[in-house]
Amino acid sequence: MVIVMAPTASDEDVRVVIAHIEAHNGQAFVSRGVMRTIIGVVGTEDVLETLDVDALPGVVETMRITAPYKLVSAENHAKRTTIRVGGVPIGPDTFTLIAGPCAVETPDQTLESARMAKRAGATLLRGGAFKPRTSPYAFQGLGRDGLRILAEVGEEVGLPIVTEVMDASEVDEVAEHADMLQIGTRNMQNFGLLQAMGGTGKPVMLKRGLTATYEEWLMAAEYIAQRGNLDIVLCERGIRGFEPSIRNMLDVSAVAMVQRQSHLPVIVDPSHAAGRRDLVVPLARAGIAAGADGVMVDVHPHPETALCDGAQALFGEALDELAQAVATLPPLLGRTSAAHLAG
Ligand code: PEP
Ligand code: MN
Repeated sequence: MVIVMAPTASDEDVRVVIAHIEAHNGQAFVSRGVMRTIIGVVGTEDVLETLDVDALPGVVETMRITAPYKLVSAENHAKRTTIRVGGVPIGPDTFTLIAGPCAVETPDQTLESARMAKRAGATLLRGGAFKPRTSPYAFQGLGRDGLRILAEVGEEVGLPIVTEVMDASEVDEVAEHADMLQIGTRNMQNFGLLQAMGGTGKPVMLKRGLTATYEEWLMAAEYIAQRGNLDIVLCERGIRGFEPSIRNMLDVSAVAMVQRQSHLPVIVDPSHAAGRRDLVVPLARAGIAAGADGVMVDVHPHPETALCDGAQALFGEALDELAQAVATLPPLLGRTSAAHLAG
């Protein structure tokens, strides 16, 4: 069961509802979104039957939701949600380009990448400081130093930053610098990490696990929501297939389907899906056509020397083509580009 509180509900109103739930042997999880506070109730059917919260102060409505994910479900949630990252919207009315280097390597490389991203129309800057690498011998990212470089560059070019956090013990430090926290594909079911997102006060980008079903992905998002953070953007980044010439398969069905199952925004990452530059723009176009609320791509000023994922990084003509696609296609689908809104 989900209890929706009025925007004007006081902390005391919320406390009274929680006390009522706990007095009836239920468990309450409070999620404070930008627009509303929601209290998720966990308990047996017997417990839910005995609750009588409708008349309590501040309660707008109570809803029984049949989907196994409740707070992120589209059930009883007529309008899809817009999430704001440092003021930049990601949602159904806009289209948001997120771009930047796969990994932060040096201050100059990050600054050049950020300028390329901005020229292409990006309103958010991505960049990995803590890198989840398949090989333990590969570049693992600059860690804390990378975080600082990314934050300084973001400030200099005027773009809020998105960066990955890999471990629950590092959440506070990353949240201090980042405008949005990214959970990578390999950590989609790291439940301790998901729960640690609850108290950060920062929006989260949750990438789909390499072999995750839509339901598993949404259950992972529910872990974050249940711990108090409803500002979640889902990112389809390709799933494991059997074709060796592409790294992963971008699942465009995920965009259309998950937008029906959940009210959360859904974006695509064609760079990590394809793993090769020449497919990034066609896949970005496919994502936009399927209704994605944004696209995230890797860029690099010198991909041939990149320490991570150089083969997929856009530059030059391919980046111009991407810029053209994100400027022209979303308006055909009734969206305003976030770049336009940002002026
Ligand atoms: C990334 O975006 O830098 C990344 C590592 O992506 P994924 O988790 O999708 O592989
Ligand atoms: Mn990468």
